[in-house]
Amino acid sequence: MEEWKLPWEGGCRCGATRIRVTKPPLLTMACHCAGCQRMSASAYSLSVAVPADGFEVIAGAPVLGGKGRDMHHFCPSCMSWMFTPPPGLDFLVNVRAPVLDDHLWVVPFVETFTGEGYAWAKTPAPHSFETIPDMEGWQALTAAFGVDGVRP
Ligand SMILES: [Zn+2]
Ligand SMILES: [Zn+2]
Repeated sequence: MEEWKLPWEGGCRCGATRIRVTKPPLLTMACHCAGCQRMSASAYSLSVAVPADGFEVIAGAPVLGGKGRDMHHFCPSCMSWMFTPPPGLDFLVNVRAPVLDDHLWVVPFVETFTGEGYAWAKTPAPHSFETIPDMEGWQALTAAFGVDGVRP
C-alpha cells in the first residue's frame, strides 16, 4: 500500500462524480483503438486497471454510454468518461487515468491497437501490441507491472 500511496481519489471534470481506489493497480495502459480515439477525442485513451474490490464511486451517480451504452461510465453532468469494467473481466475496472486527482505519474506499461493509431502518436510503453495480447499475455504483463511498473 505504502509504495502506491493509496488510497487514491479522483473525479470528473465538474466534480459531481467522485471515485476512490484502495488496492494497488494491476496495469497502466494506452489504447490507440478507433473507439478510444472517439470517446476520448484524443489520439489514445490512458487507463489504470484496478481490482474491482478496491474501487468505489463515493459521490454522484455515473451513467452508461459509449459502445452499446452498456459498459462505459460517464459523469451525467459533465459527461467525462470515467471508468469501464471490461466485459467478462469482473475482477477489474479500467479507470481513465486523467480522472485520478494525482494522475501525472501514470506512464503506460502496455499500449494496444497501435495498428489503428495515428502514425505520430507514440508512447513510452515498454510493451506494444498491434491489437491486444492473449489472456496468458495479460497475466505475464500484470506480473511484470507489479515488479517494474512506474509508481506514483
Ligand atoms: Zn462531472
Ligand atoms: Zn481502445
